[in-house]
Amino acid sequence: MSRVSYINGKYCDHVDASVHIEDRGYQFADGVYEVFGILNKKIVDYESHLNRLFVSLKQVKMQSPINKKAYLFHIKRLISINLINDGLIYLQITRGVAERDFKFPVDIKPSLVIIAKSFQKNQYEANFSKGIKIKTTKDLRWKRVDIKTINLLAPVLAKQHAFEQNFDEAWLIDDEGFVTEGSSSTAWILKKNVLYTTPLSNSILNGITRQSLINGLKKNKLKLIEKKFNIKDIKNSDEAFITSATQYVMPVIQVNNFKIGNGRKGKYAETFKKVYMEAIKLS
Ligand code: PMP
Repeated sequence: MSRVSYINGKYCDHVDASVHIEDRGYQFADGVYEVFGILNKKIVDYESHLNRLFVSLKQVKMQSPINKKAYLFHIKRLISINLINDGLIYLQITRGVAERDFKFPVDIKPSLVIIAKSFQKNQYEANFSKGIKIKTTKDLRWKRVDIKTINLLAPVLAKQHAFEQNFDEAWLIDDEGFVTEGSSSTAWILKKNVLYTTPLSNSILNGITRQSLINGLKKNKLKLIEKKFNIKDIKNSDEAFITSATQYVMPVIQVNNFKIGNGRKGKYAETFKKVYMEAIKLS
């Protein structure tokens, strides 16, 4: 059976699913999104992701096109129709279709698109064993990246810059030389058995994976300090990793031209992954 996506109330063949050329997402990046991880056919931390979606909508003054309960129904249905075991759900809401005008058009309905994508679980495991390489680059994003908007050109350019030099992810550096976060992930380092990650502000996204890992760390009495770190701190770190809804906990083995630890997956990477997996809620 072919891949099926949801678009504005209809389930359709993925290849035929399209939005109008005057959708405001297309013209202005006037929209928000969420990515939900799927593990063994279940949605990871569904409530937290949905709540963040509603916070994003409120921040950009948009209404949800469907009621809260309907999201779970459509997401579950797509997981089932597309036979997803492990993968992700990409959900996007834009302000809708209207003749191009910066001001909000009146009486238009937001556009809702939901896409399901499958992953090979052993690909994650292979990446986890190998670890990933990080390239640092300037954080050129706007000042409200705490809102999960589809305005992603700066992180697209950052990730491409990293990729072209054989790195897997970019860590974004603010004007004071501190890491804000990854282009599409949260950044962490470990030094002398203490974990460090950037504190919440308008300059980073409040990662749902970050939240669950922090809950797990608290339960296991593992020490975390929410504090900014810079290149020098990274050089002095014993281990590093990233977190995101699709990469869970992913070890970092190199940043720019220097190796983290011995240049292989850190010895506590498994522990943090386990702590995270035990902290998540599956729906
Ligand atoms: N920061 C940024 C900029 C991101 O794009 C993401 C991934 N959506 C994250 C952090 C991690 O967030 P989450 O754990 O909710 O996927």
